Amino acid sequence: MQQTKHLRRLAAVCLAMFLMLMASTALAAEGTVNTKSLVLRKSASKNSKVLHTLDKGDRLEVLSSTGDWYRVSYGKYTGYVMKKYVKVSGKVEEKESSTNNTATKEENNTTVGDLGDAPGTSRPGDRGSDVKKLQQALKAKGLYSGKIDGIYGKGTTAAVRDFQRKYGLSRDGIAGKVTIRTLFGEPAADADALKPQSLKWFSNTGTIPRGATVTIKDCYTGKTFNAVRWSGSNHMDTEPASKADAATFKEIYGGSYSWKRRPILVKYDGKVYAASMNGMPHGTSTISNGFDGHFCVHFTGSKTHETDKVDADHQNCVETAMKYSW
Ligand SMILES: [Zn+2]
Repeated sequence: MQQTKHLRRLAAVCLAMFLMLMASTALAAEGTVNTKSLVLRKSASKNSKVLHTLDKGDRLEVLSSTGDWYRVSYGKYTGYVMKKYVKVSGKVEEKESSTNNTATKEENNTTVGDLGDAPGTSRPGDRGSDVKKLQQALKAKGLYSGKIDGIYGKGTTAAVRDFQRKYGLSRDGIAGKVTIRTLFGEPAADADALKPQSLKWFSNTGTIPRGATVTIKDCYTGKTFNAVRWSGSNHMDTEPASKADAATFKEIYGGSYSWKRRPILVKYDGKVYAASMNGMPHGTSTISNGFDGHFCVHFTGSKTHETDKVDADHQNCVETAMKYSW
């Protein structure tokens, strides 16, 4: 009897120790991405460098929490994701912002082969170290072949324009905030294979503003052309930006216009969105481009003009476009 009691006590002690061990190993919480596409960033800021794009259902190790961000580990990456897009099981350690700064500093130190700190904005006529950094980055992308002299002349302006065209930015030749962020914010390897995100149209009708130039990539042919959003509220009414762009559009449709929907990727402001277009010029035309009217670009949940309904063919194409990368 005495021995049984002793054994029971021993078992209870063992169980307690086991539970304590479990608790300490379970400190690193697990998170699951609960949005279609989530950006993993280098530091806890929306302007921070993009390390990787995560898909819905991807699992992360959640290391700590700071403000609206989780510090996470995913494969070879350690970075930050927005809390609201991650479902977490387990307890996450809260970090003070000062600790977070230290973490960011460490990461900066370990970055090798990076272009370094992004320069400030600059424009034609400017001189100095910001212009030098800009020229170096453009040279690294094969867009600038002149001297790294820190003088923002014709060659630098042309290279900035080329970069802006390539990335679907407005082509003003000025290295403004968006251009600098696009040029320095993404590693070159990722920028060449950007995954699209879904643009929920009715809550984001201004994400691509009227008058904006976008680059459209046809998923099936891989052909690209520039287009301008002129109007549209149910969806985005768009025109080819020039005669050459209109010619590419027609080529995509095999030489004859049709209402057939095609999956496309729309690149704007350094981001890529899954979309669908039809191939029939109709209605208003504002650009002299040999294209008699505009064509329609649909995003997630957008509606047609005529029926004011969500068009299943367009939505299927948007879904298909999600499977492609830029
Ligand atoms: Zn339309």
